[in-house]
Amino acid sequence: MPTTPDAPPLRPSVATSASRAAAVINAFAAGDPGPEELEGILRAHGEPDPVRVTGEDVEALRAAAGLLREVFAAPDTDRAAAALNRLLRERTGPLRLTAHGGTVGWHPHLDGDDDVPWDEWLIASSCLALAVLLWERGRPPGGVCAAARCGNVYLTQGSGPERRYCSRRCATRERVAAHRRARVARTRQEPPGRG
Ligand SMILES: [Zn+2]
Repeated sequence: MPTTPDAPPLRPSVATSASRAAAVINAFAAGDPGPEELEGILRAHGEPDPVRVTGEDVEALRAAAGLLREVFAAPDTDRAAAALNRLLRERTGPLRLTAHGGTVGWHPHLDGDDDVPWDEWLIASSCLALAVLLWERGRPPGGVCAAARCGNVYLTQGSGPERRYCSRRCATRERVAAHRRARVARTRQEPPGRG
């Protein structure tokens, strides 16, 4: 696609918006993020400065993260679509295009206007991205890590085997734990007085 050097910058892609949703959800899953941590996540996902999150925003973002988590927790594509439809019906406005006054390239938004609070913006931008991913791939856009004591969510890969863990670390930990359980089970099954 041809671009000119002084064309306004493009907004974060669908993939970036989706991974931003996962990062915010995981920040709340891991504990109690403060305004600075959340500002850092938003900046890291392409939000231009000034990025200012207040204590009140943190609470609103916590609630938003809880709602978005339902999409990741849905066990199959139909239920992920239903969770997204519920949020699209109750929490977003109609699809519109904005260029934020010419400062960036035209891109779609589902929130009411360009100055809504962070939580409304996060729900709208995340729903848009997750809906596109579900559409493109025909599978749930993400899932919740299957490792014990890990509440992280992850994004589904475009193709290949289904993912179950948020990270290689969780996958390894679970594999080791499964081996240990199997060994213990075998030991218990051995009849007494032998071996
Ligand atoms: Zn995990």
